[in-house]
Amino acid sequence: MTDSDICALCGGKLLEGFTELVLKAGDELAVIKRVPALVCKCCHEAYLTPDVSERVDQVMREYRAGKRLARPIAAGEVELEVSG
Ligand SMILES: [Zn+2]
Repeated sequence: MTDSDICALCGGKLLEGFTELVLKAGDELAVIKRVPALVCKCCHEAYLTPDVSERVDQVMREYRAGKRLARPIAAGEVELEVSG
């Protein structure tokens, strides 16, 4: 463990996990799911590693260039699991 495993916002511990990114490509929004990230276990802020950031940039370049097809999502799509 190093200082880089500590959340810059709240000082919480970062754990390996996944996050979702919402990125703008022109007038469209692209959602990238299951992006590997370090996620703060306290405030859930997600931190991308330089490698992952680079990969996301590459995917977005391909998306903007029309080389990558996006699965359409409904605006306002909500998934909420209520237990109990
Ligand atoms: Zn935090």
